Amino acid sequence: MLRGPGATCKCGWHDPLPGTRRERAESYALHLAEARAERLRSCRDCKLRKDLKWMSAKPGLCKSCSSARTRAWRDANPDEWERHRRRSYLKQKYGITPEQYDEILAAQGGVCAICGDPPADSRGYRMHVDHCHSTGRVRGILCGPCNRGLGNFADNPTRLLAAVDYLHR
Ligand SMILES: [Zn+2]
Ligand SMILES: [Zn+2]
Ligand SMILES: [Zn+2]
Repeated sequence: MLRGPGATCKCGWHDPLPGTRRERAESYALHLAEARAERLRSCRDCKLRKDLKWMSAKPGLCKSCSSARTRAWRDANPDEWERHRRRSYLKQKYGITPEQYDEILAAQGGVCAICGDPPADSRGYRMHVDHCHSTGRVRGILCGPCNRGLGNFADNPTRLLAAVDYLHR
């Protein structure tokens, strides 16, 4: 039987022993099985052993158990979840904290910076953070209609003044 060089793998592994075609194939299959086994991690919730790519960022938890935990926590703590969600929304979208939001709103007297209407609900959630679209800087907090109004005029002072002029005619 002809013995060629040992089996090799694209990962860099190679079998130092020469072998027949069949021995090389078996050696390679064994290597693949070992490489797969090395990637297995056990999950402390479902007790299953899963490939690394199914493991979450939380140590010892697979992705599906990790999201099940998150869902359970969210259902058990709806208020805290809402606070957490709002905090990350404000941070991500406007770069401010809920505390900064409250400060800005308080500095405006707790009402819309344009029309002076109070927030639509007691938590102030319906008020919109108005930001400059080119610099990203937060200008103030507005009620929905005023915020949309600025948007409809493309945040353009010239257009807004022309509209005022028009209304006075
Ligand atoms: Zn390999
Ligand atoms: Zn799991
Ligand atoms: Zn308003």
